[in-house]
Amino acid sequence: MKCIFCRRETIVVDSRNNFDFVVRRRRQCIKCKERFTTSETPIKEIKTENKTRKKKKYLSRDKRDGGDDA
Ligand SMILES: [Zn+2]
Repeated sequence: MKCIFCRRETIVVDSRNNFDFVVRRRRQCIKCKERFTTSETPIKEIKTENKTRKKKKYLSRDKRDGGDDA
């Protein structure tokens, strides 16, 4: 990520996972040494069911090479 002050490259100096789905990263610019924090949150993708694809093409039972049978 670029520095928000001078748009140079930044490095991550610290990263914290305070919540289950939020990661905060402290970044420091390698040029102007300014620090700022970024917050990373996942965004749920809304699955739109494609009604034209009714047939399942997945034949997973036939392709079991190295499956995870516990
Ligand atoms: Zn900077």
